Amino acid sequence: MELDRTMPRRSARQLLKDEHGRVDIKSFDLPSLTRWMVDELGANEGHALRLYKSIWQHGARSFDEVDDVAKPIRKLLAERAYIAFLTPMTVLRSEDGTVKYLWTLEDGLTIESVLIPDGERLTLCISSQVGCAMACTFCLTGDLGLKRQLKISEIANQPLQIGRQLPEGERITNIVLMGMGEPLHNFENLVSALEICLDENAQNFSHRKITVSTVGLVPRIAELAERLPVNLAVSLNASSDAQRREIMPITSKYSVEELLEACRKFPLRRGKMITFEYVMLKGFNDSLEDADRLVDLLAGVRAKVNLIPYNENPDRDLKRPADETVVAFQEHLVGRHLNATIRVSRGRDISAACGQLGKASRRALDAEWLRVARDIAGLPAL
Ligand code: SAH
Repeated sequence: MELDRTMPRRSARQLLKDEHGRVDIKSFDLPSLTRWMVDELGANEGHALRLYKSIWQHGARSFDEVDDVAKPIRKLLAERAYIAFLTPMTVLRSEDGTVKYLWTLEDGLTIESVLIPDGERLTLCISSQVGCAMACTFCLTGDLGLKRQLKISEIANQPLQIGRQLPEGERITNIVLMGMGEPLHNFENLVSALEICLDENAQNFSHRKITVSTVGLVPRIAELAERLPVNLAVSLNASSDAQRREIMPITSKYSVEELLEACRKFPLRRGKMITFEYVMLKGFNDSLEDADRLVDLLAGVRAKVNLIPYNENPDRDLKRPADETVVAFQEHLVGRHLNATIRVSRGRDISAACGQLGKASRRALDAEWLRVARDIAGLPAL
């Protein structure tokens, strides 16, 4: 987008105030909101809780809607704070029911969320950063580099805004942090945003239904467990240190062994397991020897493996293995008592599949604009 280049870049911290100096009230967790309202507005705890409920349970758009807070406080709120929302830019619908939402942020950058219906489940895949710093070689989001961290409001608004525009009777059942970005690299904002998702006074999701997916920022894995009771998914993607280093630079910082040690220590509730994502790349990590090494690596970890056949794209020469290879790999793991499933790729026609967010969306977006432009001009679709 033009805006990307012309607007001065501001950090997430700088964006906590708008151009009038009003604070982004949705980037406060409840304790900070309470403190701010007491200190700055002379309000009390009850006011803060009612405001918090109003913005996160009822999606209030203006302080006038918060009618259980006294008028003079509402007036002060309107002067000193604003209620942030993501600006919807485009919604792309896949033939398979997957929906991709593109949002514009306050500084003109864009992010994406993907809604995936799957039987009884309605899973929302959300972003935690604009771009990503991890530079995994196979992932297109990595090509963007890290543009900036998302604010608390920008993370927590994704489920709020999508949830509120679903048809009557439908609701988001699961949230996965598998969109753009490395969630544990935006740790404090992630934790606060997920608290807002979990809090019964806010979005009230069950901790059993929220999964944080990471490349494996080792020290953060233990910290996450201390802070929140959510599920963990680890993008392992390789069966040895040397192999993983080739595709995931983070491996030079934290070895596979250190990563798995952190996973062994990760406290899991009864019946829970850590998901290990394994992107399958043809001729690279798809042999039965890889499968054997994977079984050995994951010994002693309560693990289930999710095999993701690579989503091919024009920007990479990488290929997905043949279906038979993927199935043989899975059967080999299962034969050695390792729980393994194959992820069905969703939303490929709208570039919503794993690893396609960010860069590819621009192309999808261009295609969408082209379609709309041709439509307006009365031209047939290409
Ligand atoms: N940074 C986090 C969250 C992103 S999740 C993480 O790495 O876990 C994105 C998932 O999609 C990761 O498991 C990644 O390995 C996988 N992925 C990335 N590009 C892919 C592609 N082109 N095809 C299939 N999976 C891909």
